[in-house]
Amino acid sequence: MSARRTASGGVTTDAGSERERSRDVRPLAGLVPFLAPYRSQLFAALAALVLAAAATLSLPLAVRQMIDFGFGGNDPASVDRYFFVLFGIAAALAVFTALRYYYVSWLGERVVADIRDAVFSHMLRLSPSFFEMTRTGEVLSRLTTDTTVLQSVIGSGASIALRNLFLLAGGLVMLVLTSPGLTGLIIGLIVLALLPLILFGRRVRSLSRASQDRIADTSAVAGEILGAMPTVQAYTREDWERARFHEAVEDSFVAARSRIRARSLLTAVVILFVFGSIVMVLWMGAKSVMDGDMTSGQLGQFVLYAVLTSGAFAALAEVWGEVQRAAGAMERISELLAAQPEISDPEKPVAPKVPPGGAVALENVAFTYPSRPGRPALDQVSFDVPAGSTVALVGPSGAGKSTLFQLLLRFWAPDSGTIRIDGVDIATLRLSDLRELIGIVPQETVIFSASAADNIRYGRPGASAGEIEAAARAAGAHEFLSNLPEGYESHLGERGVRLSGGQRQRLSIARALLSNPPLLLLDEATSSLDAESERQVQAALERLMADRTTLVIAHRLATVRKADRILVLDEGRIVASGTHDELLAAEGLYARLASLQFDSLDAPARSTTAGPPPPDLAESAP
Ligand code: ATP
Repeated sequence: MSARRTASGGVTTDAGSERERSRDVRPLAGLVPFLAPYRSQLFAALAALVLAAAATLSLPLAVRQMIDFGFGGNDPASVDRYFFVLFGIAAALAVFTALRYYYVSWLGERVVADIRDAVFSHMLRLSPSFFEMTRTGEVLSRLTTDTTVLQSVIGSGASIALRNLFLLAGGLVMLVLTSPGLTGLIIGLIVLALLPLILFGRRVRSLSRASQDRIADTSAVAGEILGAMPTVQAYTREDWERARFHEAVEDSFVAARSRIRARSLLTAVVILFVFGSIVMVLWMGAKSVMDGDMTSGQLGQFVLYAVLTSGAFAALAEVWGEVQRAAGAMERISELLAAQPEISDPEKPVAPKVPPGGAVALENVAFTYPSRPGRPALDQVSFDVPAGSTVALVGPSGAGKSTLFQLLLRFWAPDSGTIRIDGVDIATLRLSDLRELIGIVPQETVIFSASAADNIRYGRPGASAGEIEAAARAAGAHEFLSNLPEGYESHLGERGVRLSGGQRQRLSIARALLSNPPLLLLDEATSSLDAESERQVQAALERLMADRTTLVIAHRLATVRKADRILVLDEGRIVASGTHDELLAAEGLYARLASLQFDSLDAPARSTTAGPPPPDLAESAP
């Protein structure tokens, strides 16, 4: 599918705009696979619907009998009988209507819950490029608002529509049977009423979609602003953001108002036509009775059928807009479901090497971000990281270091060249197999709103409490975690305990230790820690990197000096490689970077010292 951005920032398909022009409800066909598992409930709902409609349709017959033979026949016993029959019909109507309500609402809730699940799990499969094109708020709005529209339509609109369709069809048959002449008249009038419905229906549908789009905009704007509250407040842009949100809300109101106007107009016209027809027919019918062409019971029966039929028709017109609204919502949901991940599992995946060593080899890898054509982020990059060794990546900002990590994780695929892990081309591996080989410790630790133990367990969901504690101890996190108000069970993340920068890093290291991957991608945090936390983080990192292949985006002198090899990246190319001392001696980009980045640690002066840095190295940092 070719995805592109709409004016509202969402993703739509090219087919989507074509569907927009038609005024059909075809997108609702997307519901079929979601309804399919619930055939028996669907059948029960339909049966209840038909039976309830049949009960309603039999009411006028009973009324006619009552008028012509009960009242007209002056027979008190048959009056009683007819009233019993009427009561029986009412009871059947009550039971079947309740059953219909239950099954139809059940289906609405069930199907929408399944759709939410399906959309969300589909989102989890999509590649990062999708999320660069689509705002999170937009996806959230489709997950919540659009599914709610669907729910109300499946759960009530659809049943109203179906019931009235049955009533309309059955009513028309009964009308013809009662008086063909009068029926011809009423049908002619109803056809007249159809015209505005067709003309306005289309407009209502496009207005509905516009209105849903504006609501999605509102949540996207709110999501963006709420996610950046500290920045908004620090720059005192509250008023500005308030105005921006206000504008989005007003836009959605204006869009909704247009929709409501069109709907009200439509409703008024339809009701006028429908009831106008009934008055007309009553008038003609009254004449027939006076002329002796029909009995008053027949006229009563006819009028009741006419009221039922036209009521059904009006209800259909009323609910048609709703059904079209749901079609719009389903269209937007189907678009999300149709979005294909740019990168997916190969058809015949190869098994990773056992036991894994984590050796990395890049061969002429080139990559350009689609959103920045003409500017390669990586250009003919080749290097080897032997299993068990540590390679440090150094380079100025924008050199392509993080991009390398992204390609290794296969968030993106290289434009050319191959990446191998343990000699296996990663493009031939199942994505989950590949990613299980790799552990990442990012610069910014993501803390989920869960307990500390669960946050570490994210590295390996099945881990026992003992394993978690062992990982935390090795990462130097045990002490501060056990000192939290509820120890390992303390709630972290949103509205939980706030951890300091160094503590978060150690938690992230514990997480990686627990997952115990053969290949570690480490993006050293740039934010400076105080000497003591720095020492603790460093010690934890060393334990994590031991016996593991490690690729590290290095920001610390201690790291580069420990690395078996350093790769210097500049503008997507590897411009030099070697050990810290070799590179310093070459007096190239590395020496300049080292003097800038590590100068607080007096890098050049200490560079001649062989072996690991003295433990107090970091403590000399400001
Ligand atoms: P830093 O040390 O500042 O994180 P880096 O060496 O990790 O820099 P990358 O993030 O790999 O650099 O970026 C390499 C180039 O690719 C930069 O020019 C950057 O602007 C560009 N780039 C990075 N991510 C994207 C993206 N998602 N879409 C488009 N361009 C990107």
